[in-house]
Amino acid sequence: MAEMSWAAGTQCVAKGDHRKPKSGELAYHKGDILTIVDTSTKKGCYVVKHNSTGEEGLINSANVREREALRVDPNLSLMPWFHGKISGPDAVCKLQPAEDGLFLVRESIRHPGDYVLCVSVSGKVVHYRVIYKDNKLTIDNTQYFYNLIDMIEFFSKNKGSIATTLLKPKQKQGTKSAEVELSKTGWLLDISNLTLGENIGEGEFGAVYEGEYMGQRVAVKTIKCDVTAQAFLQETTVMTKLQHKNLVRLLGVILHKGLHIVTELMTKGNLVNFLRTRGRSVVNSVQLLRFALDVCEGMGYLESKKLVHRDLAARNVLVADDSVAKVSDFGLTKLDLKEPDNVKLPIKWTAPEALKKEKFSTKSDVWSYGVLLWEIFSYGRQPYPKMSLKEVKERVEGGYRMEAPEDCPPGVYSLMRICWKQEPRRRPTFHKLREKLEQETGDLSLDTGSECREGIWSGSGC
Ligand code: ADP
Repeated sequence: MAEMSWAAGTQCVAKGDHRKPKSGELAYHKGDILTIVDTSTKKGCYVVKHNSTGEEGLINSANVREREALRVDPNLSLMPWFHGKISGPDAVCKLQPAEDGLFLVRESIRHPGDYVLCVSVSGKVVHYRVIYKDNKLTIDNTQYFYNLIDMIEFFSKNKGSIATTLLKPKQKQGTKSAEVELSKTGWLLDISNLTLGENIGEGEFGAVYEGEYMGQRVAVKTIKCDVTAQAFLQETTVMTKLQHKNLVRLLGVILHKGLHIVTELMTKGNLVNFLRTRGRSVVNSVQLLRFALDVCEGMGYLESKKLVHRDLAARNVLVADDSVAKVSDFGLTKLDLKEPDNVKLPIKWTAPEALKKEKFSTKSDVWSYGVLLWEIFSYGRQPYPKMSLKEVKERVEGGYRMEAPEDCPPGVYSLMRICWKQEPRRRPTFHKLREKLEQETGDLSLDTGSECREGIWSGSGC
């Protein structure tokens, strides 16, 4: 198993009970979720904070274990109280037996696009129309919300203009509350421990901010739209399974006005921008090979777990402070089941069989890896320069392959070419690619006499 980094902010799980703590120690029960506050106070011990009680104290490091991964489950829902298009009388039936504060949300049948919040109070069910106006939701034209999650969060804490605070969700049959599952497994983080900083990126679905979570520098992806947030739950679930030095690590999620995905901060941004902004005069080919090797190792780990990334490209590789490259963006990552799917595909990176027959596999990731190698050795150029997507599709199918980037070591170009074999089974595994890259790195280091990672910058004296 990959080594666990027990940094401050890491969530862990108590292995057993500790009911009679000595002075300075923490009391806990088996399965309690604890947050590491400090790892340096006493040898073999951590200072931890109890996630439920908020108490802090010492714990022996042998008495905690890693969090469990979440199981991929289509019934896992950020909005288990959302019942879709059901009628008012149906909602009343579902809210029986009456209990003050029991609630659900349904889609309005009479006013398509609007919602209805149904709440049980004093033995009756009150229906509040939720109006969708200017991209926001409101019940009373005074309080506005980004989405339903935001609205339910507000009325769970404040009565506002409704008859009672929302106390208990009436869960839709078959759904599982994501909040409960995330919390039970230790992946739910507490917003009060987070300090948000500057905006550092724009994703397709939301902004990325840098921040600090209990002393650790983090990146926070915020997703405000509730439908998108639900889709991102998949990415998050996959990330709970992954622990590798070359995969961007998930610290946990925060549910507040939507979904916030908290990961380790990769201070040097994405690999395309990294290479474009520095260029040949700053980054030498040994460092390029190290990036290639880093990604290959991360992908080898995914391969060993039978996970297919489906969107491997330099824009989805991020660079850490120490210039280690890590694969990110597991939004499309799926188990290697080769099932069809209807998503927009990144044509220039996708293998022919995946484009034509939606046959995704580790071997289609290997094809994308070949394109990524091309991006690395061309210092972040757009692949298939000057060709339209239609042209790329047709010509690649007909056997066309990109030429080697300028000054690309021949050994690296031949790796690209074997990644682009038409027949998936003739492409190498990531395991094999790694061996070949290591050989290449050895040869190049001997040529240039370069050894250390931090010595990649010209004039750095390495
Ligand atoms: P997309 O939605 O396009 O896949 P992301 O939302 O994952 O992209 O990220 C958008 C940008 O935000 C990235 O290109 C990168 O520059 C920045 N970014 C994302 N995650 C991190 C991180 N963990 N550390 C530093 N920067 C990040």
